[in-house]
Amino acid sequence: MAEETLFSKIIRREIPADILYQDELVTAFRDISPQAPTHILVVPNILIPTVNDTVAGHEAALGRMITVAAKVAKQEGIAEDGYRLIMNCNQHGGQEVYHIHLHLVGGRALGPMLAK
Ligand code: AMP
Repeated sequence: MAEETLFSKIIRREIPADILYQDELVTAFRDISPQAPTHILVVPNILIPTVNDTVAGHEAALGRMITVAAKVAKQEGIAEDGYRLIMNCNQHGGQEVYHIHLHLVGGRALGPMLAK
C-alpha cells in the first residue's frame, strides 16, 4: 500500500487549501508556492504515487485531469494566451509529492520548456 501524502488530506478537506474544483474523480487547488501568476494542481482523488504506477483502470481519472485543467484554465482567464501542463515523475523528474498531480502553470510567457 502506498503511503498517503498531504494531498489526500486536502482532497478530504482535512487540511486547508484553495480548492477551485472537485468532482468524484479529481480535485484542483492552488499550489502553495506558485511558480507563475497562475499555478494550480489537478490531482486524482485516489492515491496514485507516480506516473509509473498508472494502469488502465486509472484512465478515467487521468483523462478527467486534462479536461478539468482546461476548464480551470478558462475560469482563470489564461486559456487564450496559453499555459503549460507538467507532470513530474520520480527523482529525475523533480517529483516531491508522491501523489500524482498535473501542474497548470500560466499567466505569463513561460519561456523555454526546460532549464539548461
Ligand atoms: P512536484 O515537485 O511535482 O511533486 O510538485 C509538488 C508541488 O506541491 C509543489 O509545487 C509544491 O509547492 C506543492 N505543494 C506542496 N504542499 C502543498 C500544499 N499544502 N498545498 C498546495 N500545494 C502544495
